[in-house]
Amino acid sequence: MNDDLFSFSKSKFEHNSNSAARAAELRELIEHHNNLYYIQAKPEISDFEYDKLMHELISLEKKFPELATPDSPSLRIGGEPISQFKPFEHIMRMESLDNTYARSELLEYDKMICGMVGTTPLEYMVEPKIDGVAFTLHYIDGLLETAATRGNGEVGDNITENVRTIRTIPLRIQTEAIHFEVRGEIYMPKAGFLKLIESQVENGEEPFKNPRNAAAGSIKLLDPSITARRPLDAVLYSSGVIDGIKPPETHFAMFQLLQALKLPTLPRIWRCKDINEVMAAIDELETLRHSFPFEIDGGVIKVNNRTIYQLLGSTAKAPRWARAFKYAPEQAKTVIEAITVQVGRTGVLTPVAELRTVRVAGSDVSRATLHNEEDIRRKDIRIGDHVLIEKAGEVIPAVTSVLFEKRTGNEVEFSMPASCPVCGESTSKSENEVAWRCTNLFCPAQLTARLRHFASRDALDIEGLGERVASALVEQKLISNPMDIFNLNEILLSTLNLEQPTKFEVVNTSDQITLEQSPENSVVSSRVLGKSNARTILNSIERSKSLPLARWIYAIGVSGVGSKNARELAGIHEDFNDFANSKAISNAKKFYDLTEEASANNPNSQKASSLSDEDRNKMGVRYAELGREVDELVEKMKTDGIVSEKGENSSKLILDIKPEVCRAISKFFDSEYGVDFVARMNELGINPAGRKGQKTTGTDSFFQGKTIVITGTFSDGLARNTVSTLISDAGGKVTGSVSEKTDYIIVGKNPGSSKINKAEEIGTKRMTEEEMRKHLNLPPAAAEDTSLLF
Ligand SMILES: [Zn+2]
Repeated sequence: MNDDLFSFSKSKFEHNSNSAARAAELRELIEHHNNLYYIQAKPEISDFEYDKLMHELISLEKKFPELATPDSPSLRIGGEPISQFKPFEHIMRMESLDNTYARSELLEYDKMICGMVGTTPLEYMVEPKIDGVAFTLHYIDGLLETAATRGNGEVGDNITENVRTIRTIPLRIQTEAIHFEVRGEIYMPKAGFLKLIESQVENGEEPFKNPRNAAAGSIKLLDPSITARRPLDAVLYSSGVIDGIKPPETHFAMFQLLQALKLPTLPRIWRCKDINEVMAAIDELETLRHSFPFEIDGGVIKVNNRTIYQLLGSTAKAPRWARAFKYAPEQAKTVIEAITVQVGRTGVLTPVAELRTVRVAGSDVSRATLHNEEDIRRKDIRIGDHVLIEKAGEVIPAVTSVLFEKRTGNEVEFSMPASCPVCGESTSKSENEVAWRCTNLFCPAQLTARLRHFASRDALDIEGLGERVASALVEQKLISNPMDIFNLNEILLSTLNLEQPTKFEVVNTSDQITLEQSPENSVVSSRVLGKSNARTILNSIERSKSLPLARWIYAIGVSGVGSKNARELAGIHEDFNDFANSKAISNAKKFYDLTEEASANNPNSQKASSLSDEDRNKMGVRYAELGREVDELVEKMKTDGIVSEKGENSSKLILDIKPEVCRAISKFFDSEYGVDFVARMNELGINPAGRKGQKTTGTDSFFQGKTIVITGTFSDGLARNTVSTLISDAGGKVTGSVSEKTDYIIVGKNPGSSKINKAEEIGTKRMTEEEMRKHLNLPPAAAEDTSLLF
């Protein structure tokens, strides 16, 4: 037992035995309900009651930090972000398995193994092979101490903090073992994956390609609080180091042991007397492969008798006691009957293949994304073609190849329409993009998505205005422009008809993946929105009027302007009107235009080397002229706050705003839509303040210009991300590590010891959560509040 645990148990008796007992009781209760909910799928209490228990525990641990234990379920909400993963050296090598694709190879495998052991037949276990991320867990005295990825088999990454957020993994197990190492796979369930990419598409992020990538990406996030919100799960199926108990003699006994320890195990395994039963199990598994909540790509065959594993030994890279059998990726042949075009949120046109319905990987497929025009050309896909369809990662259908031998000559080549299929406006394609876009800002296809963006959390944060409400508002023509939300009233909203099932397709702007809405989502529980929902929305709308400039800039939804750019832009403008008539943007745009022209006129460029001396001289003159213009412009721009005065190269733009973004902003305010937007803002008297000239925003100006480090977590589910955003909104800069430049370290619950130590070492000023809340205009943390984001 280590010193921490000792001091914890001592203080428990010295200070508050009641609180300690209650904390212990809460931990046990929460783990019990965790198990019922996540493992057995038989919850006994509501989410609300569960959150209440968790909230009580977090409050207790906050009040008496010595009560926090290393197995507290409060750890599951994710702690401190880290700068990088520490390497973890495996005690026993983590091997991967040899793959087999043919059934005949399995028979040979059996012959070889039986030959080595000198017994026939041998008993095997067959398990579904999950396509996830291999990992290992070390329990020391029953307590989860380390989790690590496989890495190269010798050294992996220590991912303990992130693994603790996976609810099905127990933080403590009831075992006599001093050291118990258990291995398995982290995965993302198919349902969770679809939800995740749906929200990624909605947020304009690049979605993960398949559940495996999503699991790998989520478990390797440096901020565990984000990992905690990803729908990750795990299964455990083998062991590593076992010390202090007798290791099970068979693989089946191992499976039973893992189950008894309440570790997440595979939902189905087969115990086979001989290789013939293995073959039958492999066949049965193949028929069941799509019924698992996770993706599987085959089966794993394991010798049941663990006592002969050592005798069997390993090949150069894989153990001989197990072999993976991989199913061929499921494909189907069908015909492309038509190619249609969809329009996404930012106007991107996506070609979609309308297929003769065919069954692939357990479901009927009648449409598949064709990504973009280039992809169609590259694969030479034509209307009428016979094609091979495959579900990428078993989830999203795609056309893999054309069956050219079936061509009759009647196939028709596809070309992108010159006008938008929804609004009829002309489409365009910029040089460095593969996608064609509808550039009509009023295009109805883009309106719902534009409205959702306008109301999203990082934009105007209109609570209650989700997909269904947004679609209904657009479909029932109550809104034809996001600014129309300010014309809504309680009667209009409370009687909003939600019954119309809104078939929605999300088209990703960068990757063009189409999602079909799952049937259960279209079940509508109420006819109309109702009064209380209407009030929630209206209150948020009212509140949005006083949000800082950065939120409004982001809300507009100019292509390329993310929250970070929006905050930077808010920092150099006095208010919305200043931004709408921005000298800084027009100067930056001019700067980009001039420098581009200058580089095209560079007489020393490679392109110029083939020109005549006379032409080169002409270029040189123009080049020098442009250089002077750029210098003059940069001098002017220094007062815009857009150019860094630091460094020798004074022409370096401090704004990370790309030329196309500057151009897009200018274009927006020049457009009919932009002019209308500004007019409506003025009519409504909304002119949010920026931070130029230290104008105060919704919060006090305390954080203006200060560099802040945040450590630990906050009460009432206040996410660290939210705090960072609020501090940035208020003009502060949040950094990841403490240095001489840090003005304050904000200390929450379970603060990171390295940050605290560093802060103490260099004397950084500390700020409590209460003080921070005051400066950010947030209500004080309430013990009764159960709005825990859990
Ligand atoms: Zn359009």
